[in-house]
Amino acid sequence: MNNSNCAAEAICNVSEIFGSMVFNDAVMRQRLPKDVYKTLKRTIENGKSLDRSIADTVANAMKDWAVEKGATHYTHWFQPMTGITAEKHDSFISPMPDGSVILEFSGKELVKGEPDASSFPSGGLRATFEARGYTAWDPTSYAFIKDGVLCIPTAFYSYGGEALDKKTPLLRSMEALNKQALRILKLFGHTNVIKVNTTVGPEQEYFLIDKKLYEQRKDLIYCGRTLFGAKPPKGQELEDHYFGAIKPRISAFMKELNEELWKLGILAKTEHNEVAPAQHELAPIFSTTNIATDHNQLTMEMMKIVAARHGLACILHEKPFAGVNGSGKHNNWSLSTNTGVNLLEPGDSPMENAQFLLFLAAVIAAVDEHQALLRVSVASAGNDHRLGANEAPPAIISIFMGEELTDVLEAIESGSAYNHKGKVEMKVGVDVLPYIPKDTTDRNRTSPFAFTGNKFEFRMPGSALSVSGPNVTLNTIVADKLADFADILEKSTDFEKDIGKLVKDTIIAHKRIIFNGNNYSDEWVKEAETRGLLNLKTTADAMPYFISDKSVGVFTRHNVFTEVEIHSRYEIILEGYCKAINIEALTMLDMIKKDILPSVTSYVKDLAKTALAKKSLGGDLSCEFEQSIIAKLSSLSACLYKKADELERVLLGVKDYDGIQAQADYFKSVVFPAMQEARAVADELEVLTAEKYWAFPTYGVLLFKV
Ligand code: ADP
Ligand code: MG
Repeated sequence: MNNSNCAAEAICNVSEIFGSMVFNDAVMRQRLPKDVYKTLKRTIENGKSLDRSIADTVANAMKDWAVEKGATHYTHWFQPMTGITAEKHDSFISPMPDGSVILEFSGKELVKGEPDASSFPSGGLRATFEARGYTAWDPTSYAFIKDGVLCIPTAFYSYGGEALDKKTPLLRSMEALNKQALRILKLFGHTNVIKVNTTVGPEQEYFLIDKKLYEQRKDLIYCGRTLFGAKPPKGQELEDHYFGAIKPRISAFMKELNEELWKLGILAKTEHNEVAPAQHELAPIFSTTNIATDHNQLTMEMMKIVAARHGLACILHEKPFAGVNGSGKHNNWSLSTNTGVNLLEPGDSPMENAQFLLFLAAVIAAVDEHQALLRVSVASAGNDHRLGANEAPPAIISIFMGEELTDVLEAIESGSAYNHKGKVEMKVGVDVLPYIPKDTTDRNRTSPFAFTGNKFEFRMPGSALSVSGPNVTLNTIVADKLADFADILEKSTDFEKDIGKLVKDTIIAHKRIIFNGNNYSDEWVKEAETRGLLNLKTTADAMPYFISDKSVGVFTRHNVFTEVEIHSRYEIILEGYCKAINIEALTMLDMIKKDILPSVTSYVKDLAKTALAKKSLGGDLSCEFEQSIIAKLSSLSACLYKKADELERVLLGVKDYDGIQAQADYFKSVVFPAMQEARAVADELEVLTAEKYWAFPTYGVLLFKV
């Protein structure tokens, strides 16, 4: 077979397998009676509530399709507050009087489930005596088959109706944004638009290391990151990994991963090596936010499964290795109408530009006013290692606009004309709203929130995080600003003039959030402070803002969270933070006592034996090397032993603190520094100990041996 044939075959194959495991629109149209299909489609596209009378028909068609594809079970697939997905499998079998079984799946089973939910985090929402939780079908995200199980995307909520998951608030926030954006579009005369969706394309970074090596490190197994490890002679300084040629083993992994994702209808598009050795990235083509979120969860799961098939371990932690880049998840975000218009795309006519500037101004104002909530939305013990470390965006939120757009905004602010590359400026009404250049590309990779031509890229989310949280916040705070704008403009008697004024006033009030320079520099940290921008370095520092009046106000105004739900999430996030650090500290103690100190002891023992043997030979054989190393190792191991003792002591001290915030603050300011001190000594020991004695693989081996 020649090459061109191969290529043709590969292409056929992709279009054939794409979505083959998804109960998607094509399958629905083919398998559902016309009227049922139409009713369901209305539910999906226009957010109309589900017509229960069709549920049985849909369920039966789903089951037949799934059984033909080899499925035996179904599950309500949901996203509890653990950050990963959950599923409980039920088979389709139903007993017959004659002892045989038939395969059944009812509308009731499709629409609602009742998992025993007492073991999922609820932040005190669900007392154990009322442990029932419910799952409800989200028809806007297609059902799919994974590992012989028909998975039905569902929302998860308590007996009292409070959200216990990541999907419910996301759907609510999308609805909030839809509602407010429609108000604005109506003012511009777009009465044909019936739905505004937010779109997301999350770029996913990850590490791949050899599974056998991974299994030799308790820290990776228990904590997802290394707790010890001296810097190897080579890291990422040669900049030879980014976009480098992909090794055959990694390439085989990526190929299989793509196939698995395509089967699930996930638009896996771009793959490349990242900056750090052993680090890679996968970017999908963007889709509606709740689907993008579901797909990103599935992508992370598939990465782990496929890696294992290739003898690899996929690490999704935000900072698995000190000294090399961590992993993020760039959340590309925009707004689009059901008529296919991207609302963050500069337009051609003055009116389109006015509309674009209004949406842009809403984002600028929202991000400035709710910096703290955006920081909260990406808070976790893992991501704290990344934010502010020198390769990641800092914990300070600012917006990159690009030079041209900044010039445009400045022109608006000062009321002066703006001429783009000699083009004549365009006007809206009395006030000047200039021509917007379309080629405002972003080459500033240090900004946490960058405008990239027709979308914003929020770069703070960590690689392990569900993108639900950041998007719930973004959607809600932008909806809030659009609501303010709509309130003003709906009363306006001179629409064009008032838009100009609104945009101008908003820019003046919120321009401090715009920063086009290097976000990694120390000068920026100082300048941000003079601008009054927040710099919330840790989860413990950020979380109080989540329960502030301002936060409760904005989330409850748009029915995204109730106050009770906010408090429950606040508890869950802080608990997660404390537990993560606690597990890390315990793992450290275990590794120090059972691995590191014994390694050093065996090396010392052999060195001492050698020295003795040399002495017994008589003569003047030098034992200087052995003696000097033994002395250094002895004093360092005594020191490490003390540091471990100290860590153990402070860890016990947690119980003296009442309340989750006080405990989180204690973990941050007492336990974590004690861990860092112990690590520093252990890493020094690693450098002095011969490699074959060291109990687990070093950074050099982990990062370069794939
Ligand atoms: P980069 O320079 O960051 O690689 P790309 O143009 O390749 O930029 O896009 C990166 C991600 O942004 C992709 O996942 C892409 O699908 C997504 N993206 C593009 N347009 C939009 C949009 N309108 N809404 C949301 N995400 C988008
Ligand atoms: Mg990007």
